[in-house]
Amino acid sequence: MTATSTSAGPGPGAHAQSYYAATATPAPLQPRLEGTTDADVCVVGGGFTGLSAALHLAERGYRVVLLEARRIGWGASGRNGGQIGSGQRQDVLWMEARLGRDTAQRLWALAEEAKTLLRERIERHRIACDHRPGNLLAITRQRHVAEYAAEAEHLARHYGYDQLRMLDRPAMREAVASEAYVAGRLDTGGGHLHPLNLALGLADAARAAGAVLHEGSAVVGIDWEPTPVVRTAHGAVRAANVALCANGYLDGLEPRVAANIMPIVNHVIATAPLGAERARALIRDDVCVAATKFVVDYYRLTPDHRLLFGGGETYSPREMPDVRGFVRRYMLAVFPQLADARIDYGWSGTLAITINRMPHFARVGRHGFCAHGFSGHGVALTQLAGKLLAEAIAGTAERFDLMASLPHRAFPGGRWLRHPLLVAGMLWYALRDRL
Ligand SMILES: Cc1cc2nc3c(=O)[nH]c(=O)nc-3n(C[C@H](O)[C@H](O)[C@H](O)COP(=O)(O)OP(=O)(O)OC[C@H]3O[C@@H](n4cnc5c(N)ncnc54)[C@H](O)[C@@H]3O)c2cc1C
Repeated sequence: MTATSTSAGPGPGAHAQSYYAATATPAPLQPRLEGTTDADVCVVGGGFTGLSAALHLAERGYRVVLLEARRIGWGASGRNGGQIGSGQRQDVLWMEARLGRDTAQRLWALAEEAKTLLRERIERHRIACDHRPGNLLAITRQRHVAEYAAEAEHLARHYGYDQLRMLDRPAMREAVASEAYVAGRLDTGGGHLHPLNLALGLADAARAAGAVLHEGSAVVGIDWEPTPVVRTAHGAVRAANVALCANGYLDGLEPRVAANIMPIVNHVIATAPLGAERARALIRDDVCVAATKFVVDYYRLTPDHRLLFGGGETYSPREMPDVRGFVRRYMLAVFPQLADARIDYGWSGTLAITINRMPHFARVGRHGFCAHGFSGHGVALTQLAGKLLAEAIAGTAERFDLMASLPHRAFPGGRWLRHPLLVAGMLWYALRDRL
């Protein structure tokens, strides 16, 4: 039974009322799981990671059932800034210092593959997601300029990556109409897109490849042995393997890996359409922009000439009462000239971070795999995560194991205490942005 509705429709489990939901490609509601079914692989979570895993597995001929608690793309994947960044969340110098040059180069190559994969998916499946090139790092402190320039040189010399270009203050001021920055670094290998429409396009591609997708099908428990049975309120999937892709919403579902990630909430607004001229006066070349602050300001234009601006994060699961007012303050600190701009949308999303900000990949018992904790850098890397999950399930786990070998620590304090400890730490770093 497939009811027809748009993915933006109201009702329990509907998408956050975001600019993305308002401009989503109409998508049929996938039926919830009823009764017991068999699969080779059960994927838990219908965000980028789960969708990519389902698509790669279905292409390899596996019988795949994907269970999404709400709607496809309901989580971080349908709410994020849409910014495609190069590399891992940590820079190569950080990786070299801890893991050695060789491993850093392999991790960089995987991240480059992630961007290529993303581009190929968009092209091959003709996903209309407003994909545009260009990602601009906006540098806020003079003392950081030399470091970013040195890193660009290092990437060119040792990694063969030549798509970074430094902008001095006047060039940066021409690129972005703000006094907040002392310099910039343009990455022509990065870009931006409409993330919810990417998720919906990936879901179509996965279904076309043979995967079965269920929405409104929250997994309430997994009996792992002797072979997994993944249970929802109305049915169950008996599967040889399980890919856990619930990310910041994993909660208590799998205690063996839950303490490696911490959910945090980030907030986004979109202005009313500003008109082409006023919008282009803000960001001349239609690139996306992210500032070098601990709590990152990130923003870009939409095709209908709005400014879509993310800024400010909170560490409480409670809903933010006035997202528009909260983020608007950050936006006006960058663009005071937008004081008269109406804010049409404001929404929040939960992402998962790890202590070292590298994603956490792990085996879960004998039949389970997980990939999560992309730490705000998942638009491209999740595509690769899905591919590596599929490779591992198919028996070629070298690349999955490289990711799984990254040294991670559980957040201290256990399930209940880890949150207050994190809040104290995060607030300290956020305070440093203002000093
Ligand atoms: C506000 C915000 C801005 C961001 N901006 C950027 C950006 O500009 N660039 C960037 O690279 N990254 C960004 N990120 C991070 C990026 O969105 C994530 O890394 C990425 O979307 C993670 O995808 P995922 O599939 O792993 O998780 P999600 O998209 O969160 O998907 C997890 C899914 O699992 C489902 N689920 C959870 N539990 C269950 C269950 N028990 N049963 C069934 N289903 C379940 C959820 O409903 C959800 O749909 C941002 C994140 C947020 C929140």
